[in-house]
Amino acid sequence: MIIVLRQGTQQKEIDQLCEVVTRFGNITVNPVIGTDLTILGLIGDTSQVDPTQIESFHCVERIMHVAEPYKKANRSFHPDDTVVDVGGVKVGGSCITMVAGPCSVESRDQICGIADAVRNSGASLLRGGAFKPRTSPYAFQGLKYEGLELLKEARKTSGLPIVSEIMSPYDLDRFMEDVDLIQVGARNMQNFDLLRQLGRVRKPVLLKRGLSATIEEWLMSAEYIMAGGNEQVILCERGIRTFETYTRNTLDISAVPVIKRLSHLPVLVDPSHGTGKRWMVSPMTKAAIAAGADGVMIEVHNDPQHALCDGQQSITPDTFDEIMRDIRIIAKAVGREVRG
Ligand code: PEP
Ligand code: MN
Repeated sequence: MIIVLRQGTQQKEIDQLCEVVTRFGNITVNPVIGTDLTILGLIGDTSQVDPTQIESFHCVERIMHVAEPYKKANRSFHPDDTVVDVGGVKVGGSCITMVAGPCSVESRDQICGIADAVRNSGASLLRGGAFKPRTSPYAFQGLKYEGLELLKEARKTSGLPIVSEIMSPYDLDRFMEDVDLIQVGARNMQNFDLLRQLGRVRKPVLLKRGLSATIEEWLMSAEYIMAGGNEQVILCERGIRTFETYTRNTLDISAVPVIKRLSHLPVLVDPSHGTGKRWMVSPMTKAAIAAGADGVMIEVHNDPQHALCDGQQSITPDTFDEIMRDIRIIAKAVGREVRG
């Protein structure tokens, strides 16, 4: 349930109203002061709330019922777009943020070299997997803690904040220390223990869409994190399983305008995992920006033929540079600007 307040409502009136509302049961009140509206979002069992009593308050303009199961992630709870600060880089709002880097951190030279190259082309954040969720237990699993150390070195030399995937809640303390944005991969989108733990910390989370997750399931996973008090969530569309086998996944570009309508959270697109083919990364990046994405995350490797993971979908720093030039025109056409 949402209570929309009249403009100019005093804090004293809000406090009185909150007190009455919480008397109706186990309800938490989430006040949001937006540019045009001040609203109180009610979370919990609102079935006992008496609307006539609420409406009798002079400061109440109207009451709305929220049918969707996600509340904190719901745009009606937070009409303005959320902007998430990742180590000083603001994700969401009018700027488009480009995230680039290898699928996996492989060596100091590799990660630091790629970091400098993508920064020079205009990337704002550096990605790099240290813990890799591989389908085969015999495949390269990542450099793990050593990978995080190398990422930190690359952050120092390039100045780019870093994003890396967490696979286990046991590593949370380490990720809190080491990275600027904690990635939850597609395979862990419904690891509810992990999501709950991430809800308790104060660090931005990049939540990728699950392999076969509906948009509502994806938003409910964001809700898990937000329900714990961590509202710094960025969503990432990375393709879903369909009957099509030509591409690795089917990149659901239509999810971007849907998310923008249903939620206030920023949304990125990952055309690398979304297609599995390097020649599709450029057209899908352009499509993502045209569709309203807040940014794109791309796998970039200095030597894709010999990459230890996902070489077939990785582009070179030169191709990334070309993409960066092309997208500035598209961003402008849709009223946005590419940061960097
Ligand atoms: C990744 O970004 O490195 C990754 C493993 O992606 P996803 O979880 O989307 O498969
Ligand atoms: Mn990958």
